[in-house]
Parts: sequence; structure tokens; C-alpha cells
Amino acid sequence: MTAKPPIAWKDDAAAPPVRLSILGATGSIGTSTLDLIERYPGRFEVAAITANGNVAALAEIAKRTKAKFAVVADPANYAELKSALAGSGIEAGAGPDALDTAARMPADTVVAAIVGAAGLKSALAALGAGRRLALANKECLVSAGYLFMEAVSRTGTELLPVDSEHAGVFQSLAGHDRSAIEEITITASGGPFRAWDRERIAAALPSDALKHPVWSMGRKITIDSATLMNKGLELIEAHHLFAMPPERLGVIVHPQSVVHALVHYTDGSVVAQLANPDMRSPIAMALAWPRRMPSPTPKLDLAKLASLTFEKPDLDKFPALRLAIDAMKAGGTATAALNAANEIAVEAFLGGRMPFGAIAATVERVVERIQSTGQPANPQSLDDVMAIDHMARKLAEEILPR
Ligand code: NDP
Repeated sequence: MTAKPPIAWKDDAAAPPVRLSILGATGSIGTSTLDLIERYPGRFEVAAITANGNVAALAEIAKRTKAKFAVVADPANYAELKSALAGSGIEAGAGPDALDTAARMPADTVVAAIVGAAGLKSALAALGAGRRLALANKECLVSAGYLFMEAVSRTGTELLPVDSEHAGVFQSLAGHDRSAIEEITITASGGPFRAWDRERIAAALPSDALKHPVWSMGRKITIDSATLMNKGLELIEAHHLFAMPPERLGVIVHPQSVVHALVHYTDGSVVAQLANPDMRSPIAMALAWPRRMPSPTPKLDLAKLASLTFEKPDLDKFPALRLAIDAMKAGGTATAALNAANEIAVEAFLGGRMPFGAIAATVERVVERIQSTGQPANPQSLDDVMAIDHMARKLAEEILPR
């Protein structure tokens, strides 16, 4: 199943293979997941994989991994996928129902790695079917965090965070007294514009913003990292995942991205999680937890690094982080609107339709407008979330500078 150099993993060698489904298999997280599991021939089986429109990559992955079911979200790509898989014995599917079926297919773990609120329904479907969920898609929690976590407790599903900071928090909490948590701090690399001044940032081009100094990721999260919206989305993610009130969540800029999270306990102890910045490490944690599986992430050498630095985030230079914090305090309606408006604004910026500086400004106006409509602070149902999401996207399109 693999051309990757295999790593010896003796633990549980006699156990049956772990069955995985990967929603968003063609993306950055999907690729890192495949890179990891293909190093253990015979230890993982692939049940379902999905993509949006990247048919060639999806078909290649399906054949390589001998997946059972491959799905494209966009129904327009069905015929192309079916013909690419002809004769392989792999079932092809397309559209929302097929995505739902892929998420529910028998599997030990479902990796939720679709980008944006587009991944919400399939992640909820996996939860509903009782699948253990390795969650990379933070937008699920930003748009529907309360409902999502309610589904987690209702179904009793195990939820493992894949986002590196949240995997760091998760590990720093393990075995500790939850009632003694004083604060949870997540780190931010600071993105490509950490040392730029406000005017220069406002006029940054997509090519500047796509040059992340540390991480290689999909385009949307890379832009979110440049605005620092990503850190705001992650605070909201942590708020839901760890049931922490906003005032006990913090962000610190740490350009080396080696310390991912710190949990401050009431006795003054701080438990932090460190690792070289490589997503295969938190993915390995989520796949193997509570055991450990080796990952090709290079061993951390602190003496070689020599220094780790930390600084406060600059909320004036990066207003998107402030907007996300305010939305987290306001509740689920504000965060759903923030997420949807941000998705539209990022797409518009990447498409050359507006300047970098307009991303946060657009999000701010949309959230204000939605809040002024007298919506309840928290959506009561998934339909409510979808209605807010829809309204925010429409408003953002209207507001975008032409
Ligand atoms: P990518 O853009 O690289 O990949 C996104 C995946 O989702 C692709 O498989 C894509 O398919 C699919 N997709 C896109 N739009 C849709 C849609 N409308 N319906 C169904 N599938 C769709 O994203 P990343 O891998 O970077 O990020 C995925 C998620 O993980 C995001 O929520 C991100 O915030 C989070 N995350 C990512 C990290 C990283 O290192 N990349 C780190 C931590 C969290 P196609 O290829 O066909 O377009």
C-alpha cells in the first residue's frame, strides 16, 4: 500500500488493522494523514475518502489505498470520478447524501479534514453513527460548537483534536485535575506579517499572505494564520472542546511553534506540550490515543533551537483576533456569522477581489449586522446555524469592496 519508508511499530502488531475514513483526503491534513498511515503497511485500512472537486487526486488515493468508497462533494464531478475508478471495484459517490454515507461507513476512526463549515454535516453524521472522530475541521466548532458538543455527549463519541494547539491542550490535561485549571493558553506563530507594520499588512498580496513562516497548510487556513483569525477560531474551538469560559483562554505569540499549548493549574504549575511543528505528530496522537504510534516528525532538539521566544499578540495590527474573541464572548450566533463572513472574505481576497485589510473589516460589519437583527445569542438548532451562516455569507458578498 505504500512507497513511504515504513517505520517499525511493534505495539499491537497482532491486532486487526485500524479502519479509517478520511473526509477531505485530498487536502493538507488528508495528505499528512495518508503519509503517516502508509508507513505502516497492513496496520490501517481505508474505508471512505472524500474530496470536493479534485477527482484525479481522489481517484489516485482511492486506488493506492484500496479504499472502499470515494466521494466527491460536488455532484458535477460524479461522472469523471466513476470513470476514473472504473474496473477498480471502488464505489464512487457524489453529493451531500454520499458524503453523509461516507462519514457513517463502518470505521474505527473518521478524520474530519474538510475545510470550512462545508464539513459540519459530515462530521455530525460521523458522530451520529458513533464513529470516533479525529477533528481537524475547526470551523465545525466555530459555527455550531454548542450543538456539536451536545451531539458528542449525547452519542458518547470519542472526540480527538487534531489541531496542534488543541492536541497540545488535550495532552496537557490528561491525568490532571480539571477543576484546578486556571487558564489554557494556546500559542500562535504570528504568521508572515508579525514584523510588518499596519499599513503594509493592509496592502499585503495573496502571494505574501500564502508564505507561512512555519507551517505548510491549505490556502484558507494559511490566510487565517496571516490575519490571526486562525488563532481566534482556535480560541473558540478550545472554548467548546475544553468547556473553558472565554476569560480563561489566552493566546501567546511564539514564532518557533514548538510549544503548542500551556495549561496553568491553580498550584502554579504549568503543563505544556512541545513538538516540532509537523501535523503528522498531532494526527498520530489522535489516531493512536491513548496509545502512541511513532511519527516521522523529527525529534525535538532544544539545545539546537537554543531559544524559544514569546510575545503578546498585537490586537491593533491583527483586528481579526479581537473580533473572534468578541464573538466568542457574545455566543454561537456571532461565531457562526464570524466564520461564514470570514470564509467569504478569505475567498474574495484570494481571488484578488479585495485587499488583505478588508478581510477583518468585512467580518466585523457582517457580525454587527447579524447581531443587530435581534437573533438569540445562541442558535437552537442546526437549521438556525445554517440560516445564520447563509445570511452572513449573503451579507458578506453584498459588503465586499468592489
Ligand atoms: P485543504 O484546503 O488543504 O483541504 C481541504 C479538503 O476539503 C480537500 O480535500 C478539499 O477537496 C475538501 N473540500 C473543500 N471544500 C469542500 C466542500 N465544499 N465540500 C467537501 N469537501 C471540500 O485544507 P487543510 O487540510 O489545510 O485544512 C482542513 C481543515 O483542517 C481546516 O478546517 C483547517 O482549519 C484544519 N487544520 C488544518 C491544518 C493544516 O496543517 N493544514 C492544521 C490544523 C487544522 P478538494 O481537494 O477536492 O478541493
